[in-house]
Amino acid sequence: MIGWMMSSTEQDNRLHYLDSMGIQVWRRRESGRDEQMPVAESGAVKDNPAATAGQDDTGGLDWEALRERVLSCTGCALHKQRTQAVFGVGSHTAQWLIIGEAPGADEDRQGEPFVGRAGKLLNNMLLAIGLQREEVYIANIVKCRPPNNREPAPEEAQSCAPYLARQIALIKPKIIIALGRVAAQNLLRTDSPVGSMRGKRFYYEQSDIPIIVTYHPAYLLRSPQEKRKAWQDLLAAQELFSSL
Ligand code: SF4
Repeated sequence: MIGWMMSSTEQDNRLHYLDSMGIQVWRRRESGRDEQMPVAESGAVKDNPAATAGQDDTGGLDWEALRERVLSCTGCALHKQRTQAVFGVGSHTAQWLIIGEAPGADEDRQGEPFVGRAGKLLNNMLLAIGLQREEVYIANIVKCRPPNNREPAPEEAQSCAPYLARQIALIKPKIIIALGRVAAQNLLRTDSPVGSMRGKRFYYEQSDIPIIVTYHPAYLLRSPQEKRKAWQDLLAAQELFSSL
């Protein structure tokens, strides 16, 4: 649970992890005046209902059956070149659900989402808002690695959507963070760029689960100048979460 009153140790941890994200943190000046970190504008509008999962028979599956179904799935062409399907990882009772795009080479090898450099950055982003990786749940729009790390095709994302929908139904998260354009566009059924979705609040399907959009850690590794914006998004998500 996120709280607003942080101990000095927690504040030190936050500063440490922000430093490791490459974000320069504004600190108290000699004058004693506090500089505030920028916070993303709160759009607070239900301006785009998220996707429906489509027709499928995953609705009654428990975690074990769902995992077995995913690991043996041949529902789209992505199964042909995968080492293994990457189901998802984390707490089944997580309040925070983190959704990315697709497994990459490391994930395909290890069978876990967000490992490697992008995973390390994601871990640091989570730690910066007081979350351990183990207490959230992390999943992707598609469970199998697209060849050469290409984007998942729309039909591949559509084939895989019922699995993520069932994961969301089982977890019942309080908040969803969509990492990057592919995650956001598929969850929200839109072609909007990430830049126009940041700072707004969307909702998952007809539920009251808010979705906050931010940049994908892999993009942040390529574009470190955007890390501060991601930090703004995380702060906005933290503020929203604490009000739920
Ligand atoms: Fe099945 Fe999804 Fe993998 Fe396609 S990406 S084979 S739908 S698990």
